[in-house]
Amino acid sequence: SKVSSLQEILHAREQGLGIRETAALFAEGLKELAGRGHNLYGRVLLEATDANVKVTYPLEGGERQMIMMASNNYLGLSTHPKCVEAARDAAEKFGVGSGSSPLLVGTYPVTKELEAKLAKFKKTEDACVFSTGYSANVGVISSVVGKHDVVIVDRLAHASMVDGAKLSGANVKVFKHSDAEHLDRVLSRCKNYVTKLVAIEGIYSMDGDIAPVDEILKVCRKHDAMLLVDEAHSTGVLPGGGAAAYFGLEGEIDLIVGTLSKAIGCCGGFVAGKQDLVTYIRYFARSAMFSTAPSPPVMAAASAAVDVMQDEPERCEKLWENCRFMHCELKRMGFRVNDEPSPIIPVIIGSMDAMRQMTLELHRNNICINSVIFPAVAKGSERLRISLTANHTREQLVEALRCLEQAGRNAGMVNGSILPKLP
Ligand code: PMP
Repeated sequence: SKVSSLQEILHAREQGLGIRETAALFAEGLKELAGRGHNLYGRVLLEATDANVKVTYPLEGGERQMIMMASNNYLGLSTHPKCVEAARDAAEKFGVGSGSSPLLVGTYPVTKELEAKLAKFKKTEDACVFSTGYSANVGVISSVVGKHDVVIVDRLAHASMVDGAKLSGANVKVFKHSDAEHLDRVLSRCKNYVTKLVAIEGIYSMDGDIAPVDEILKVCRKHDAMLLVDEAHSTGVLPGGGAAAYFGLEGEIDLIVGTLSKAIGCCGGFVAGKQDLVTYIRYFARSAMFSTAPSPPVMAAASAAVDVMQDEPERCEKLWENCRFMHCELKRMGFRVNDEPSPIIPVIIGSMDAMRQMTLELHRNNICINSVIFPAVAKGSERLRISLTANHTREQLVEALRCLEQAGRNAGMVNGSILPKLP
């Protein structure tokens, strides 16, 4: 039979359908979706993804200019001349590939420089880079906890933390989203584990809310648990450089994980913390050890980006100005959004059909906004996810709002008409 969603595919596998049969079913479903204009991997980017981008859709043909509201390039650094120049210089000097894992071939000076800058920026003793933020979380968590230990993750923690926790062989527990009291109760039942690790995000990737890092840290200290904060979306975004700085807790968090792919505008990940712990991770995180080191041009560009972030604070200010404007306007239009302004604005739709209709209409109007469905978010909280950058102009935001309101009206989603209840 035809499938209409990724959920049905996952369900088919859970029910024991073989991979060949499931893949065939999926291919059929994708064809049908493409026929209706949905083509998840169909968009081809013809230039750098900044506040707008030129694309083609193979099925439709022709080039189009879209307002980009799906990229995490929060400060617009992926095209910053200093970052591009640093990458070019490093490519000329060191080539584009790193050859092998740092344990086998060694480390380039651009990488060492970046690690030192990241440690300084996060006010920690040391930092170690990974090829992606995903592999940083997987490598860090799976190396620091094992079978005698427990890892307690926030219910909304990113897949990379959950995967790292599963891979570690440690006992995995979940606490209610950003609920320090619940974490306290969970930790009270974890006295017999050797190492206790709590894993949260600084700004949550799908809801855009800031974690109460201070309250969570207090509870961790009470129970002698270590705290890992994934600062993927908060690095360079929260005033001061990240969530630890925002809460005045620099140097206090055991492990800060981050990505180089969002505000830093490049690609890669890192962990920052105390010297001994970071050294241990360097030697034991399998996703770093058994993987080729990130390429020198990317390391050099990220290093330049860390400087630009600090030298040009007006980028962060502009980002937040955009966040406040967009958040206020969406609320005024009657959309269900998060409580506080954030560079990530979830517009909760809660209905797959309405969301598909809106996404299609927005794309037809050249607004690139992602829709997010299960398993990335809970069933019933399907959403459009707006990502803002410092480079969005007021005109672009106003145009996106106009299209959102129109699409929302057409799908019956604004001004309280058929807003579904939150799960
Ligand atoms: N952590 C969080 C919270 C994220 O949102 C992401 C990216 N979506 C990652 C980690 C992974 O980072 P990367 O894209 O660099 O692999």
